Amino acid sequence: MKRTKTLIATMAVGVLALGLAACSTPAEAMDTGDTSADTSPVVASVETTTMALGSQQGGGYGHRGGNGTAMADPAMNLPAAGEVDEQEIADLLWMREEEKLARDVYLTLGEMWDLPVFTQISQSEQHHMDSVLVLLDRYGLEDPVGDNEVGVFTNPDLQALYDELVARGSESAAEALLVGGAIEEIDIRDLEDALARTDNADIQQVYQGLENGSEHHLQAFSRMYEQVTGEAYTPQYLDQATYDAIMANSTGHGQGGHGAQNGHGGQQGGHGGQGGQGGHGNQGNHGGQGGHGNQGQDCNLNG
Ligand code: MN
Ligand code: MN
Repeated sequence: MKRTKTLIATMAVGVLALGLAACSTPAEAMDTGDTSADTSPVVASVETTTMALGSQQGGGYGHRGGNGTAMADPAMNLPAAGEVDEQEIADLLWMREEEKLARDVYLTLGEMWDLPVFTQISQSEQHHMDSVLVLLDRYGLEDPVGDNEVGVFTNPDLQALYDELVARGSESAAEALLVGGAIEEIDIRDLEDALARTDNADIQQVYQGLENGSEHHLQAFSRMYEQVTGEAYTPQYLDQATYDAIMANSTGHGQGGHGAQNGHGGQQGGHGGQGGQGGHGNQGNHGGQGGHGNQGQDCNLNG
């Protein structure tokens, strides 16, 4: 397998424009502009960067949308804590490590393939991990992650899943993208289940933020898979209707609204997230999608 550690490092600031220039695989042909979807919460430093290059095609400048400053706090304005039962505790511990699984797989595959999307999204997963940790701390639960390194899990099922997914993602870039999609689908499914098992508003807020993020990530992996392979992405864990709804939802939501996803840089630069309070134009920093403003509560998490 090839190990081209592209310009990933630059992504925190310029997200995309750079990543492409050096690619030499099919990945190169893709429009990363569309795929950084939701990597926004990414970093505070990005929040301060109001402009970034649009995709290389248009060369336009996209305004970073929204006032994403709130993103710095992954679990902002949480409602009061309630009581948690055994199931809610088990779910919290699971979600903490499941977000780690996503982060770790993406970090690993990001070093393996010339696909910046992995490293971009891994940063979002770090925020998701942080958000769940806020809840663990709130409820006095021991963090199953602790000092565990990348690829190390307390839960044996997640350890096995990690090993399996990394092995699969090592086969090819296309397979790696399918692994990304699989993780997001599993995450969405598990979050839906966990949401149905808690009546705590603070936990629900965090889970919904994570789910929102996962939907964006699934959209990104799906689109990237199609760009790289020329084939349609087929849902692996979600039913087709659910998947279709998620993909349809990617063309516009949030008060700030965002442009069509296939907009390529330069046209409009993506103004993002004007509407969402505390929202962020997480995609607005590149010319691809016109960024969007998420509404209020999950703005901090959906990266
Ligand atoms: Mn996540
Ligand atoms: Mn995700």
